[in-house]
Amino acid sequence: MADTPEQDLGPPPLASEQVLSVDDDRFAPETVCLVTGAASGIGRAVAFAMADNGCTVVATDVDEDGLAETVDVAEDAGVDGTVETVAADLREEAADVVDAAADRGQVRFLANIAGLQHVSPIEEFPMEKYDEMHDVMLRAPLELTKHSLPHMHEAGSGAVGNMASVHGHYVTSDKVAYNVVKFGLRGLTQSIAAEGDGTVRAYSVSTGYVATPLVTGQIPDTAEQRGVSEQEVVEDVMLGQARNKEMMDPVEVANLFVFGFSEHASHLNGGDLPFDGGMMSTYE
Ligand code: NAD
Repeated sequence: MADTPEQDLGPPPLASEQVLSVDDDRFAPETVCLVTGAASGIGRAVAFAMADNGCTVVATDVDEDGLAETVDVAEDAGVDGTVETVAADLREEAADVVDAAADRGQVRFLANIAGLQHVSPIEEFPMEKYDEMHDVMLRAPLELTKHSLPHMHEAGSGAVGNMASVHGHYVTSDKVAYNVVKFGLRGLTQSIAAEGDGTVRAYSVSTGYVATPLVTGQIPDTAEQRGVSEQEVVEDVMLGQARNKEMMDPVEVANLFVFGFSEHASHLNGGDLPFDGGMMSTYE
């Protein structure tokens, strides 16, 4: 057995000191930032970070308990803004979620984060799982964008931030649905940019592995698929190709969304922020 200590896979607690603080007049209580997948992982961190920057965050997710925990974490940390919750299933209620967000203030920012994973070879891939992943991770972002854009145009500026992945650039076997929807999400990002006039923007964020329940949850399946240990999945399969040998923290991803929504990113439009620890740009 190697002596390498096992990496602690749990996400670290969120704290204001870790959040990128940006001076942007629009980061204010009257501005709504709608964040999906906000009950867990990256979505929770983005909700926290945008609230810490003074926005009214409308945090949505199908997981009500997780949403309540997100509110507790933000309140305990004393964030400047607020986190309000809308429990909803994005497969059915995307339009209603935008309406609920618009009741809380001026919708300027939309962070499409909600997602799920399924590991299975193409020949065995359950089509109902493909449909679910497509609906949550691609159709819902489009529908949320469709209903948010009029509010952003009314506000005079705004942005859609889409959580893509290295799997939106290159692929891993046995993750066909994930690969397909992440490639599609980058297409959606560029389509929003194409139809905008530069004041309402879109961007995507592509990371490698981030320490969240979505990742820790897929380790046992991947280990079984590949016939290796769970530790080998983390060190060799997930981080094997990256130069950084630790998973990213959710708050580090959230800071990319803070930057992407801010006025400092006014020329980030249709583009992708690849924060992958060198996974896609290095080989051997
Ligand atoms: P997570 O499992 O911690 O959170 C995902 C959230 O999406 C959950 O709270 C879940 O309830 C919600 N969700 C799922 N189906 C839903 C539905 N039908 N309606 C509403 N909400 C629903 O995962 P995470 O790691 O934080 O991932 C968030 C996003 O980041 C995903 O799109 C994922 O693909 C992407 N991503 C993650 C990583 C990573 O390594 N964790 C890397 C790159 C990209």
